[in-house]
Amino acid sequence: MKTPILSAHNLVKHFNAGGFGAARKVVRAVDDVSFELAHGETLGVVGESGCGKSTTARLLVQLLTPDSGAVRYDGKVVGPEMPLKAFRSKVQMVFQDSFASLNPRMTMIDAVAFGPSVHGVPKAEARRKAQSLLERVGLDPARFGGRYAHELSGGQRQRVNIARALAFDPQVIVLDEAVSALDKSVEAQVLNLLMDLRRERGLTYVFISHDLNVVRHISDRVMVMYLGEVAEIGPAERLYTAPRHPYTEALLAAMPSLDPDRRTLEAPLAGDPPNPIDPPPGCRFHTRCARAFRPCDSKVPALHSLGGGHLAACHLNSTKEHAA
Ligand code: SF4
Repeated sequence: MKTPILSAHNLVKHFNAGGFGAARKVVRAVDDVSFELAHGETLGVVGESGCGKSTTARLLVQLLTPDSGAVRYDGKVVGPEMPLKAFRSKVQMVFQDSFASLNPRMTMIDAVAFGPSVHGVPKAEARRKAQSLLERVGLDPARFGGRYAHELSGGQRQRVNIARALAFDPQVIVLDEAVSALDKSVEAQVLNLLMDLRRERGLTYVFISHDLNVVRHISDRVMVMYLGEVAEIGPAERLYTAPRHPYTEALLAAMPSLDPDRRTLEAPLAGDPPNPIDPPPGCRFHTRCARAFRPCDSKVPALHSLGGGHLAACHLNSTKEHAA
């Protein structure tokens, strides 16, 4: 098997939630998360708010330091075997808030040229590159290059943020809810731009979103997270048509359908996720799972391989009861 371009190995990140000594509380944002990314693929990451998907993204790009675990780029451990500066030019991130991502005092051409300049590219060359990238993301540099962030729409700002990411000539881009704040028509245009760029440049994406329809559209594989853990991961079509974790089933059942005969009348997922400070024992989903049975509240389900790169962490997959 080819070396993955990027991989996460047993990432753990807990945040202090107050208290001292034995009474110290932690939010278990990410707990033992591992996955691999193949060159040129798009991995969609889904789950409710607070499931750990954004923290996982920040760990992956090294904006956060894990409590334990490691990130490898092309087989090398980031930090000890690959300097952070080199890693940052290979792996870039685009955030949901297009405005907060841009310096309000910089023109768009300077914003795109800034990264390469800092990495040693001569100023004139960095500006030339910025012009051509603005053009590539659909913004006429003569018209938009001299503008400031507040003079652009949300869609235009997100195009600038994509150009900024591309300015490093990265191999991987992590997109954290990058199209979620946009109107549906603008969202579709930016998604098409992302797919064209992936084809042209052989990019690899991690695409984080709460919108399962968008994730299905863009992803080769999908990872479902629940309370800081991976619940299920596998090829997108297989996961959407034959999910093997009750949480994935519930998320899919909650997807808005345009077909009136297929609309869900009852909420498939009752209540909010439990408190990540004190997650339930055993399977963390057992307090909301309609199919929970005897071992679920005491035994942690391991990620079980179902073949074809499809894995799910549910006891039903390791017992005969799933046949039902
Ligand atoms: Fe439900 Fe048990 Fe599977 Fe968890 S392990 S998802 S509680 S059936």
